This record gives sequence, C-alpha cells and structure tokens, in this order.
Amino acid sequence: MKTVENCLFCKIIAGEIPAQLVFKDEAVTAFYDLNPQAPVHILIISNTHTASHLETDDTTIYADVLAGAKKVAQQLNLTDYRLVINNGTGAGQSVFHLHVHLMAGRPFAWPAG
Ligand code: AMP
Ligand code: ZN
Repeated sequence: MKTVENCLFCKIIAGEIPAQLVFKDEAVTAFYDLNPQAPVHILIISNTHTASHLETDDTTIYADVLAGAKKVAQQLNLTDYRLVINNGTGAGQSVFHLHVHLMAGRPFAWPAG
C-alpha cells in the first residue's frame, strides 16, 4: 500500500482526516463526497496512492475501484447510478488521488454535459 504525504485522500484512508465512511477493506475505501452533486454521492478510492487514471497502468487498481463501486451499490441497494472518473484539471479533477465518483438518486442526462 503506497501512501503519499500531503495527499488528502491518503489522510482519509489513514484516519487522519474524518470522512463519512461507507465501506472499507484491504483494497479500497469509500466515503461520502463533502460537496455532493446528487442525493447519493460517494467516492471510491484505492488504498494505494496513484495520482490519476492516466498516471497509472496498475490494472489491479482499476479493478479494485470498480469492484469497490459495485460493493457500495449493492450495500446501498442502488440499481441506477453513474460512475465518473475525472482525469486532469480540465476535466474537473481537483484531488490527485485516483477516485471513482458514484452518484445516484436523481435522473442523469445523457449525453452528459
Ligand atoms: P474530483 O474533482 O474529481 O477530483 O473529485 C474530488 C471530490 O472530492 C470532489 O467532489 C470534492 O467535493 C471531494 N472532496 C474534497 N475534499 C473532501 C473531503 N475532505 N471529504 C470528502 N470529499 C471531499
Ligand atoms: Zn493519496
């Protein structure tokens, strides 16, 4: 498990910054987003630090966060939800520890804006 100093999400994994946890196991941590964009808005992160989707080739991390998102959906009995990964500031990434957004509880437009 790789952690990075001064990474907000690594601090949440370590319990150094409080978060409303939904799920945690040896691979991933899931917690409610502080600034929700939907009635249900949860972030799923790998317990191993990697900055972004583009900056890792570790397919274990890809698998862990997607499987973690499914565990969260099942735990909360969600059948309709959207998963989002923002890569790079231009796409809205503000925290550079790879994370999947799981959003649910309202309609989502498609094509997305
Ligand atoms: P992104 O903009 O894709 O990098 O997503 C980062 C998300 O982290 C945003 O939706 C923020 O609202 C959320 N966020 C920032 N700080 C915290 C925190 N301390 N606890 C929970 N969510 C946070
Ligand atoms: Zn980190």
